[in-house]
Amino acid sequence: MITRSPIPLQRQAPTPSPGAWQAQLSGAIRDPRELCRRLALDERWWPGAATGHALFEVRVPEAYLARIRPGDPHDPLLRQVLPLDEESRSIPGFVTDPLEEREHTPKRGLIHKYAGRVLLIASPACAINCRYCFRRHFPYDENAPSRAQWANTLDYLHADDSIREAILSGGDPLAASDRQLGWLVEQLEAIPHLKRLRIHTRLPVVIPDRIDEALLDWLGRTRLQKVVVLHINHPNEIDEAVIDACRRLRGAGVTLLNQSVLLAGVNDDVPTLAALSERLFEADVLPYYLHVLDPVEGAAHFEIDDAAARMLVDTLRRELPGFLMPTLVREIPGEASKTPL
Ligand code: SF4
Repeated sequence: MITRSPIPLQRQAPTPSPGAWQAQLSGAIRDPRELCRRLALDERWWPGAATGHALFEVRVPEAYLARIRPGDPHDPLLRQVLPLDEESRSIPGFVTDPLEEREHTPKRGLIHKYAGRVLLIASPACAINCRYCFRRHFPYDENAPSRAQWANTLDYLHADDSIREAILSGGDPLAASDRQLGWLVEQLEAIPHLKRLRIHTRLPVVIPDRIDEALLDWLGRTRLQKVVVLHINHPNEIDEAVIDACRRLRGAGVTLLNQSVLLAGVNDDVPTLAALSERLFEADVLPYYLHVLDPVEGAAHFEIDDAAARMLVDTLRRELPGFLMPTLVREIPGEASKTPL
């Protein structure tokens, strides 16, 4: 008689309790001194943190903080969120609107740069403030539409049948309430020529409890094909809670992709980039883009020059199967798509 060993059951993570993410969002650390204190950074980091914070405020949720090594000012996750004195330096070529997005906003809250796709600013808020963010100076106050203004934006989408994809962006679109997002997605799916809904978000990474039943409800119901593009730069960002959040999204029929930014002192070496791709795949996420830094004022200290970026990626290609290789790209204002390097 053949004895079969039991098939291991996949561990089912409990679904986050309703509303748990909002409490985490509002409880995020917003004080640079508190950030330094909680991570046991000595006082010499405090003045720089205060200077950077005055330019772009600190915001770090607890779930992300827990993945940072205390006492290590060079931790790759900390580098992404700790304000520094360098942010106040004026560097030629680094500007407040590096992608010239203000030229492409035909309606409030709508950016139409690429053929067939529009980007909708679904929420002006983020759960985390990344120091290298190309929208760190974006005038969200001028671009957060009311319901009436959404009607105007939706008219624009109805009138242009070349638009096949709506991209929810921000800020972080998942910082909006599920009531607001459910309403918006219902309006979008009533546009017959729209096929796809794409969501660019970092929330499942920084507060994995965001992927709760209320979100899965509207996301699972829509007729639109769904793509979620995560933003993860380092393998240490992917803990078990993030993997569970990705699993819940996949269960709702979502295709998961990732885009990273190549950042000095965070992920500018081959072992880290290789480990990131491997870890993404363990979470059922495919690497998509590796962006070179957009030259936004305050982020020049993260820059890697093009020759070094190409060399890194050429070496990485020898380490990884093709499906785990992100495409190295730059966004050039006025170009009809991202430009491979
Ligand atoms: S938009 Fe994205 S990169 Fe910018 S601060 Fe928000 S989460 Fe970070």
